[in-house]
Amino acid sequence: RAKNSSNRSIVQFEKKMAEEAAYRHQLEQDLRKAVSHGDLDLALQPQVVVQGEKLVGFEALARWQHPEFGAIRPDLFIEIAEQTGLICELGKQVLNRACRETALLNTQFDKSFRISVNLSSLQFQNENLVQFVEDACRSHGLAPEMLELEVTESLFLSNSEQTKTALAAIRGMGARIALDDFGTGYSSLSYLREFAIDRIKLDRSFIKDVSWSASDQRIVKGIISLAKSLDISTIAEGVETNQQREFLEECECDEIQGFYYGVPSSATDLSSLMKKGGERYAIHHLPDA
Ligand code: C2E
Ligand code: MG
Ligand code: MG
Ligand code: MG
Repeated sequence: RAKNSSNRSIVQFEKKMAEEAAYRHQLEQDLRKAVSHGDLDLALQPQVVVQGEKLVGFEALARWQHPEFGAIRPDLFIEIAEQTGLICELGKQVLNRACRETALLNTQFDKSFRISVNLSSLQFQNENLVQFVEDACRSHGLAPEMLELEVTESLFLSNSEQTKTALAAIRGMGARIALDDFGTGYSSLSYLREFAIDRIKLDRSFIKDVSWSASDQRIVKGIISLAKSLDISTIAEGVETNQQREFLEECECDEIQGFYYGVPSSATDLSSLMKKGGERYAIHHLPDA
């Protein structure tokens, strides 16, 4: 009996694995189509200065609405895009669209919102990256000073000379570099002085329990003061509550991004919120509101 039931569970397990592999394969093919047709969407999430709670910019986040399966989690389709190399084309589209939509919002509301765009480490293997960034700004009329590129620590592991040159050129044109998900990767602190970085994005995993966890509080305080001493500014990701915000204010964190101030939304939705109630209205649009 025991043998039978364990055989059955192995068969079920194998069936499930085969189904998952088929699903993933399907997604891969459909993502290729979606990217080549330019079918991905863009969501913008507010970034807010802690002192005075002023909306200063947005992070651009890719969205994929699958015709059959609905919204696909970005973690999943970005991973597929990285594995298949589609991330390079996807990343270019996001960058172009982010520059265009931000330039439009800035014109419409007479503001100078910044835009942060995620770059995959794979995109740095393309020698034309720097030129592409420059062209994206120019063709959409966005000052490079309004553009921030988010990179992750994995970028620093390989071909560091080419990477250093590209980062320096990007900063040379006036754009900024942010280190995303800080604290979750290899976190060799030498990266902070070896590579030109303008700001650190504290990962959500440190923020999650920061209103009560004494050790997370010490880590967050420590990262912020380390950054300050190196003249690197800080933004906290994943801030959902006022207690978290208060703690970050106490630590003199510069900016905050999270559901507390707004979920990622389309430029159209943000624009109508701002038309209705100004920019303060746009940053207090909470998920259940
Ligand atoms: P990320 O760059 O760290 O982006 C922040 C993620 O945290 C986003 O997830 C955002 O929706 C989520 N988030 C923001 N505030 C909160 C909060 O208060 N609470 C919680 N629970 N989550 C919050 P999302 O949109 O699912 O994206 C996941 C990851 O996918 C991104 O993480 C980024 O690494 C990657 N990604 C998204 N778009 C692109 C892209 O255009 N290019 C590249 N290379 N990666 C992208
Ligand atoms: Mg990011
Ligand atoms: Mg992040
Ligand atoms: Mg993250």
